[in-house]
Amino acid sequence: MGDFDHKDYEDEFRDDTWKDMGEGEVSEDDYEEDAEYGGNDGGGESAELTAQEAADSKTGKKGTVVQDKKKEGEYEDVCFICRRPESKTGKMFKLPNNISVCNDCMHKTMDTVSQFDYQGMLGNTNWGEELDKISKGQGFPNISFVNLADLQGEGGIPNKQKMKRKKPKEKTEPALDIRNIPAPHKIKAQLDEYVVGQEKAKKIISVAVYNHYKRVATGTMDEIEIEKSNILMIGPTGSGKTYLVKTLARLLDVPLAITDATSLTEAGYIGDDIESVVSKLLAAAENDAEKAERGIIFIDEIDKIAKKRNTNSRDVSGESVQQGMLKLLEGAEVEVPVGANSKNAMVPLTTIDTRNILFICGGAFPDLEEIIKQRLNKGTGIGYGAELKDKYDKDKNILNKATVEDIKKFGMIPEFLGRLPILCTLDGLTKEMLIKILKEPKNAILKQYQKLLELDEVKLEFDEGALEAIAEKAMEKDTGARALRAIIEEFMLDIMYEIPKDDNIGRVTITREYIENTGGPVIEIRSKRPEAPDLPNNAGK
Ligand code: ADP
Repeated sequence: MGDFDHKDYEDEFRDDTWKDMGEGEVSEDDYEEDAEYGGNDGGGESAELTAQEAADSKTGKKGTVVQDKKKEGEYEDVCFICRRPESKTGKMFKLPNNISVCNDCMHKTMDTVSQFDYQGMLGNTNWGEELDKISKGQGFPNISFVNLADLQGEGGIPNKQKMKRKKPKEKTEPALDIRNIPAPHKIKAQLDEYVVGQEKAKKIISVAVYNHYKRVATGTMDEIEIEKSNILMIGPTGSGKTYLVKTLARLLDVPLAITDATSLTEAGYIGDDIESVVSKLLAAAENDAEKAERGIIFIDEIDKIAKKRNTNSRDVSGESVQQGMLKLLEGAEVEVPVGANSKNAMVPLTTIDTRNILFICGGAFPDLEEIIKQRLNKGTGIGYGAELKDKYDKDKNILNKATVEDIKKFGMIPEFLGRLPILCTLDGLTKEMLIKILKEPKNAILKQYQKLLELDEVKLEFDEGALEAIAEKAMEKDTGARALRAIIEEFMLDIMYEIPKDDNIGRVTITREYIENTGGPVIEIRSKRPEAPDLPNNAGK
């Protein structure tokens, strides 16, 4: 009797369960209903699908499918795990929901999985065979994948898993047709419309850019690698360095990235690493690697990465950055993240060749003047030359006399300067130049305000005295043309606020007195207002 009777226990358990399910016993009818429901559902769906297909074929949707396929050809798959594109990894395994996994990652995953024998669940699996099956879309043995599309809601994993395929090198046509590169004088003529003065700089840049793109277009960059026309631009702040490069890039219709050298540090330290300048260019080229490869990178404040003098600590933002930039300037293949500015596992990488990218480095080099003066004054310290010692002190454009030796002394390393073979200096802006900047360029500040007030049918004028007063004020600030806008905005605020109040005002003339706060602008009332249309007569037409 003491023996436990298995059979009895099982029967008892079964009885209890039945009882627990309530009085409404499960009848056969219920089962039938369920079956019917399931059956109908499946049938309905398939019927719907075929109807949809029929509709598609009628409305010619097949065309769009073909187009989509074509588009797909431009993109290539990226490994879901290591993010490398198919062109690098070789053929990938295609899993459901647009997920592709490269051979290496798939094998690594399999190796990891096979180390766990889930209580014999996997058995002695022949992975070679299984991988073949998977690639044929026959699924995994005993393993079901989580459907990532379900986790992400509707739409599933979009094309983000793909990146634009680079066209194979041999087939690419020259990016710039040699006949389409405007001659240097034409480039300069275009620049003249926007940039005032700086004749020499404009000339040097026009020739450099012409030569650079000519070499890019004819593919002779390999032979004359070091002779790449990278430019070093020296000029006081606000003299138009950035503006010149921006205008140039716009005229040539090439992508431009502007970075500040002060934020760059050696890789691994806080700050942007040097390659981030290339990712900026890629972003400016809308992630089109080919377009980026013929763009311009402008690195401002380059004087801030000069070698630090008298320092014992590690110079991670000075000399090391110069060292780090050598390869980029000369031409190197750089792996950059697409659509992000930091490399991480979730962004695909692409390779950019910097050989055809034009680098322009700009800086104010504030202490360079002293170095030049010292050199020029050498030998004038004693004897007859002594009185000439301050000869160069008054020379405003002493930067024009800068040589590579001077810049080396300033703290730029020779290898770095060697990769920026073209040296161009910009003049400090004079009062006359500032006045011209106010009124002459195509997008001059005064023209912009005149246009704004023209919309209110008010004519805005500046007399010569006013322009001079604005230029004088700007000269005092010592920030070049950058000061102009700030000064104008200050006094134009009142004008822009008051004028639209009164419809009778027809013309406003800004005077020197108004700028100097000793008087007001001259305001002229409209002599005769345009007549209002005669409504009753017009109505008859
Ligand atoms: P920086 O030399 O410090 O880079 P910018 O190029 O940024 O100076 O100049 C600031 C602004 O001054 C520009 O946006 C531009 O409007 C104006 N500017 C400076 N120089 C000139 C110039 N030579 N001709 C026309 N505008 C200029």
